Amino acid sequence: MTLSLKRPCDEDGPSGRAEGTRPFKRVCAEECPSLLTPVASEEDSTDSPVTSCSRSKPAPELVCGVEMKTHPPRHPSLYFDDGDITLRAESFIFRVHKNKLMKGCRFFEDMLGLKCSDATEKTEDSLSIDVGVIESSWDMTVWLAEIYSDKLVFIGFILRITVNLTLLLRSGYFKELVEGNGLKVAASLFHLADKWDLPEYFFQAKDILVNIFPDNYDEWVTRSPRITTAMAFRAIPICKQYCPHGLPAAYYTASLVHLEVIISGTRDEEGTLLTLSLEDQVAVLRGKLQHCLVRREHTYHGLRGDFTALFNRPHQGKGGLPCRARLSRMYYHLDTIFHYHQGCLDPLPESAVQRLFASVCSTCANMIKDELWIGTRSAWDCVPDMFGLQSWLHVRMDQREIDKLYGDSEEDPC
Ligand SMILES: [Zn+2]
Repeated sequence: MTLSLKRPCDEDGPSGRAEGTRPFKRVCAEECPSLLTPVASEEDSTDSPVTSCSRSKPAPELVCGVEMKTHPPRHPSLYFDDGDITLRAESFIFRVHKNKLMKGCRFFEDMLGLKCSDATEKTEDSLSIDVGVIESSWDMTVWLAEIYSDKLVFIGFILRITVNLTLLLRSGYFKELVEGNGLKVAASLFHLADKWDLPEYFFQAKDILVNIFPDNYDEWVTRSPRITTAMAFRAIPICKQYCPHGLPAAYYTASLVHLEVIISGTRDEEGTLLTLSLEDQVAVLRGKLQHCLVRREHTYHGLRGDFTALFNRPHQGKGGLPCRARLSRMYYHLDTIFHYHQGCLDPLPESAVQRLFASVCSTCANMIKDELWIGTRSAWDCVPDMFGLQSWLHVRMDQREIDKLYGDSEEDPC
């Protein structure tokens, strides 16, 4: 696994870009003043940049050599009428509060603290800045939403009665973004953390990602139904670069799909094809091949121990057959009970459980339930190893190394 070092602000490249955000190339304002003029895009294309050659009609911003200024729409949630600074991104215009930006992020403190900038133009009563050349609309949305997420709650707390409902609703906008597409928000925050040297965004992004791809079994049980194959495919490179904690769960989810999908890729809800790198395909296939083994050696290993132990105290179950015979039959038919692409963390199908419990005595039924509980946790412990990550301890150590790069100096896990 390759872990990238935190890069200084003045270096950026494709490898530094998280999945789902626009590739960025730092542009010097003095060298390319034309890039400072606002350019409106035809549509929000934060996910799939459109090359100019793919358009059938001429670019609208250049007509007879005269630059036409078209304006993107106001952002539905981050346009405050009482704001005193306007930020133009390619798909949206944001109107926000200078003081809030300066207090909320030291990048804006530095930028807005400068009295004069090539990228700013003073209008009648407010600043107007084209941010389209430095960030995509989506990244700027996440950035501003993050800055505003605290402020509006704070205003609501101080003013209590006078705060209006709109502000309160907007206070949850960052939360809405996270709930709507946490992975994309996390990718954006990782990107902002790296590009503008804002380590606090790294830790926020990590929390969001681990919340989606947990590192303990109980949370996995709760959250796994919401994880799609596309999310896993998208998360794997992000986790490798920033958040190894989430990698086993992402790999595991990816390993539950058909072989063909692992190799040829999957599509997200917008139809974008997501493919795994060759290295990740190998890791996922390696894990997929081990589901059967882990299922036998860990998830349901206890059943084998039980029917062996029952040699010493043979007794009949409810159906007339000895409990031991029922258990051994269950164990030896495990591979036919499960479909080949089902995971080692999948529970026994309900029909199989009912058949088994209907035929063994109550003592054995309780024993089986305990063994299944222990076995599934044992299988969870194996998940990192299935994908070549050794163990959860190694995963945590990898995470600690990355955290340290962003200034977190907690003790190593042990
Ligand atoms: Zn029994």
